[in-house]
Amino acid sequence: MKQSHQISMKPFNSFAVEASADTYVEINHWYELDELDAAQSADAPLLCLGEGSNVLFVDDYPGTVLRIRNQGISVVDEDDEQLVLRVAAGESWHQLVTWSVNHDLWGLENLALIPGSVGAAPIQNIGAYGVELAHCLQSVQVFDRQQSCWLRMSLDEADLSYRDSLFKRDQDQRYLISEVCFCLSKRPEPVLTYPGLIDYLQRHSDREAGREYSSFEIAEAVSAIRRSKLPDPSQLPNAGSFFKNPQVRAAQYHGLKEQYPNIPGFAVDSHDDPYPSEEDSLIKLSAGWLIEQAGWKGHRLGDAGVAPGHALVMVNHGSASGRDIWSLAQAIQSDVHSRFGVSLQPEPRIIGA
Ligand SMILES: Cc1cc2nc3c(=O)[nH]c(=O)nc-3n(C[C@H](O)[C@H](O)[C@H](O)COP(=O)(O)OP(=O)(O)OC[C@H]3O[C@@H](n4cnc5c(N)ncnc54)[C@H](O)[C@@H]3O)c2cc1C
Repeated sequence: MKQSHQISMKPFNSFAVEASADTYVEINHWYELDELDAAQSADAPLLCLGEGSNVLFVDDYPGTVLRIRNQGISVVDEDDEQLVLRVAAGESWHQLVTWSVNHDLWGLENLALIPGSVGAAPIQNIGAYGVELAHCLQSVQVFDRQQSCWLRMSLDEADLSYRDSLFKRDQDQRYLISEVCFCLSKRPEPVLTYPGLIDYLQRHSDREAGREYSSFEIAEAVSAIRRSKLPDPSQLPNAGSFFKNPQVRAAQYHGLKEQYPNIPGFAVDSHDDPYPSEEDSLIKLSAGWLIEQAGWKGHRLGDAGVAPGHALVMVNHGSASGRDIWSLAQAIQSDVHSRFGVSLQPEPRIIGA
């Protein structure tokens, strides 16, 4: 276990904002979590950080920042159809996707090039290009700081939904994820519902019509599209989409559509009420569209800004503080609310607000 004090978090967050942590602990083996538990009470402030690509430090962190850096990918079960993988939380997400498509496995290919660690992937049920992690997550091994014990949680227990899970709602960091199990298919199961993806594959592939794409080709296509659309955090620091796409009742959506005929909206499956009345059904709006309509795309306030090419991505043009970025985000939230009556919720964890 590596431990140090008053450490800058700047290298550990993709917004590259300055913030310090009272104590910084790095562990390379899951069993070191037991030692950490013995050294720290369950209610002492603790923040578990992966690659820092979905957090915004608005202030210094008055507690311990823990990074779980364990490594390892192993096959724990296999038959003709599928394979169960156990992956350490400290592995890189994209490297896991690359490993899976290189082994001709199916399930993770649409999630290629999402930054971050494997341990953080269940936190907000990462999703992209028509697929969410819940699609192939089998279970999660966690250390429960409250009960001081190890648990294996099933997909149902982890309660994953759109950019949310039991873990994301756990602001006291009760659960520390040490490994994640995935069930991947050996049979082709392409998900090509995202129009831009099938379009890209058709334009860039010289294969005969009717032949299936490999998971490797799909992952390559997703990576190419992502590179062309999203700013690279190493060039322009950011945390990907800053706001979740809001969900509203159909009645509100129809009202908005009368005023803004081009407003995009997509029907959502409601798990709370599987048979809602038409007016009560849920519609997902595009947060990026609302922000762009409100005129914030490319807007800059000092070094805090909205990406010129992507209204949903907040960026640090150089020396913005977390507070600068958060103030701009709050101004956007309040403007969008007053124009459209819609609340935007941040996607990254805001630390210290
Ligand atoms: C350019 C860019 C593009 C992105 N695109 C997408 C996208 O398409 N889809 C998407 O869903 N996300 C996207 N993201 C967000 C981000 O990549 C994911 O949320 C990712 O899973 C975060 O991983 P991380 O290791 O960086 O987590 P961190 O940012 O370090 O942490 C995020 C949260 O997880 C918690 N956490 C981390 N590790 C653990 C652990 N082991 N145990 C318990 N809690 C933990 C932290 O406390 C924090 O609350 C993007 C980000 C960037 C910068």
